Amino acid sequence: MRTRSTRIVLVTTGCLAFGLAVSVALAWALCLWPTRNLGNTFQLGVNSRPDGERSSHTVYHWSNTRSVGFRHVAIWQIPGHEPINRHAARRMREQIHAGKAGLPPDQRAAGPYVEPAWPSWLPTLPEDETERAQWGARAAGWPLPCLASRSSATSTGPGAGTRQTSWSMRLIPATPTSGAAPQDPDRGAVPLRPLPLGLAANTLLFASPLIIVLVVVPTARGTIRRRRGLCPACGYERRGLEPGQPCPECGQARANTETRTHRGRARAKA
Ligand SMILES: [Zn+2]
Repeated sequence: MRTRSTRIVLVTTGCLAFGLAVSVALAWALCLWPTRNLGNTFQLGVNSRPDGERSSHTVYHWSNTRSVGFRHVAIWQIPGHEPINRHAARRMREQIHAGKAGLPPDQRAAGPYVEPAWPSWLPTLPEDETERAQWGARAAGWPLPCLASRSSATSTGPGAGTRQTSWSMRLIPATPTSGAAPQDPDRGAVPLRPLPLGLAANTLLFASPLIIVLVVVPTARGTIRRRRGLCPACGYERRGLEPGQPCPECGQARANTETRTHRGRARAKA
């Protein structure tokens, strides 16, 4: 019985590897989709000082792009205002979660509008953020985001300043931007940081049809045939044959026919 369970484990592992490869390839393909303009830029005012200190209200730009299988979120400082810091980021997140951020309804109607969100893959700002004037993250994957990258820069505006990216790999060289709309400065690069829940769910989704066809159906068919006294491999009628005799039709060895007897079941578990 060991060979059959080994085969099930190997085939299942292969199916999961395939599902993982499809999830990653799809996420990257959606990320590399030709032009990604940054959408829905609006302003968010928050207190940028820690609790207990005198408050100092600062306004930040917030950009939220959402399309099929791709998300990009960026926050950047308005020139002359304070750099982004973690206190401001925490308050922004609270405002967004409380639904107190975003454009008023009459302005939303004017164009495509995406409700601001603070996704879980947008990391908390580091302690040493004083130099950072902008902060952003991208995530890709379908149906759930499964890979993410982050970026920061030392001056304001999309793509400006000395940029630092992490968990990002450039596949297509950067080209000069054209047109008035600000574009995703990391376009041409793909995210690498796994988002565990999304990656597991997407992998299972893409692996499950293969697992059903290659593992579940053959295993169920073999079990049913064995119970009916047929050869589990080809369905040949085994009645009248010695238990140890290989199948005369396909040559299937005796091991796979043994679960019919109690002794066989006990041996199979061993
Ligand atoms: Zn057979």
